[in-house]
Amino acid sequence: MGRRKRRKKVILKPRKTIPKIFTCPHCGAQLMTVKKIKKQYTVVCGSCGIRHEFDERPGWEPVDYYNNFVDLYLEGKIAT
Ligand SMILES: [Zn+2]
Repeated sequence: MGRRKRRKKVILKPRKTIPKIFTCPHCGAQLMTVKKIKKQYTVVCGSCGIRHEFDERPGWEPVDYYNNFVDLYLEGKIAT
């Protein structure tokens, strides 16, 4: 008597596509990207060149760096 082994169906979850291009708060171009370089994340605009570097923060997605960037920008903490 053998139990039939039930095949486990492996369902591959589609990975959520996280937007990686954002709108620049400075010039309005949709050319802001978040790049990971070593342990730093750089938010940079491909149009006007405004940029800011962040230390890597656990659990943060590129969008979080971008949101933080916008906050800093609105507070006037980013040199233009
Ligand atoms: Zn810009």
